Amino acid sequence: MENKKFNFKENTAQALLDSRLRKNLKFAMGAMIQKRRAVFSNAQELEKLRVLGNSIRRRALSKLPELLEKLENKCTENGIIVHWAETTNQACEIVLEIMQKHKADKLVKGKSMVSEEMHLNKFLEQHGIEAIETDLGEFIIQLAGETPSHIIVPAIHKNKDEISKLFHEKIPGTPYTEEVEELNAIARKTLRKMFYEGHVGLSGVNMAAAETGTLCLVENEGNGRMCTTVPPVHIAVMGLEKVVEKLEDIPPLIRLLTGSATGQLITTYVNMITSPRKAGEKDGPKEIHLVILDNGRSKILADPQLRQTLQCIRCGTCLNHCPVYTRIGGHAYGFVYPGPIGKILTPQMEGLEKAGAMTTASSLCNACEEVCPVKIPIPELIRRLRNESYDLNGTVQGHGYKKHFMETAAWKAWELVNRIPALNAASTKMAGLFGHMLPKAGPLKEWTHTRTKPVFAQKSLHETVKEQGVAHE
Ligand code: SF4
Repeated sequence: MENKKFNFKENTAQALLDSRLRKNLKFAMGAMIQKRRAVFSNAQELEKLRVLGNSIRRRALSKLPELLEKLENKCTENGIIVHWAETTNQACEIVLEIMQKHKADKLVKGKSMVSEEMHLNKFLEQHGIEAIETDLGEFIIQLAGETPSHIIVPAIHKNKDEISKLFHEKIPGTPYTEEVEELNAIARKTLRKMFYEGHVGLSGVNMAAAETGTLCLVENEGNGRMCTTVPPVHIAVMGLEKVVEKLEDIPPLIRLLTGSATGQLITTYVNMITSPRKAGEKDGPKEIHLVILDNGRSKILADPQLRQTLQCIRCGTCLNHCPVYTRIGGHAYGFVYPGPIGKILTPQMEGLEKAGAMTTASSLCNACEEVCPVKIPIPELIRRLRNESYDLNGTVQGHGYKKHFMETAAWKAWELVNRIPALNAASTKMAGLFGHMLPKAGPLKEWTHTRTKPVFAQKSLHETVKEQGVAHE
């Protein structure tokens, strides 16, 4: 996260005041949900595929160290140079070193959430290197000076009018137009020149097969292929969980990913990168680097329950179906990963003290779990993280930060009252007599603010039963 202090409550309140944002999101999410539904119209087939996807991801995570070692060996054998980074800063330094070695001052980038996690563009800018986003959505938000608001469609929060205005103002010599084809042509023309100017290309990795050392990259615009083919050097960055065991594990995951993300059977481009340009080949980079980033993932892997977070294939469909995300958009979350996946991933990476408030933004309606193509039990993990916020013996960084003396005392008192029959009877009597005075101010304000105050019975169950002469033990 950038240095700005994270205040989720404030961000949410601000976002809810933005009616244009909600309108844009409602329109876009509705379309994405329909497309996904159409491509997965056979529920039984989808379920079978999800079970398969889940087992592929769980198998990969169960032998992750071994697979990563194999991936490194295979990639090295194929001529790809492998780097390991424990922190995002180390990963940035590795990219910088490669750029400096090649005396490169322009980086053309395909879409990569890991590079967002690294805040790579800003880091490179501080070292005099220009990073140019070439994915259309990323290009739009780079022009606007914003961060992505969705993990698949980064500029989803913007409508056509806003983009028209942005192109007109930010791309020199561009006339104002609201024609989609013309807007596409403007972006295409602007970016095409940049591919040739970029000395180094950077991409993410959707999956990497340990068996063959193959990096798989799915995309629709062809910009990913340009970034990984035109510049003489290609750098691929990936989170260490992206590895799968075999090449044959990739097709079912692609089917789940593209169907869930964009409602497509398959994307326009599926790039399988196995080596740099070989002797006699006419195109392709002469040098390929793979940067494998940890950034807290090993710690997540060590916990058998929380490990399920790493099954994620970043399809973004949990965002599209989340009643919270679809009202507030991605920027309100304040970190790189928004929506349901962000709620479980970010607090584990950044710590509960810093990002734990996100876990409160869930109605636990289970929509995210129902649509997740690899069956991550997101609500269960949200509950776990919520509990850890209060638990002094928890394992997640920042656990117990919400534990408060008053709350502990209140629960102790509750326990006492319910253990001693006389106290229980007295408190029930008091609640019946004075419960209607339950305050709308003070510590109970938050609760009564959005809920109807409970009406306590005038008599306890014991009294009623006794009066009515019902036999009981
Ligand atoms: S948690 Fe599931 S639904 Fe959400 S982005 Fe990851 S794979 Fe997709």
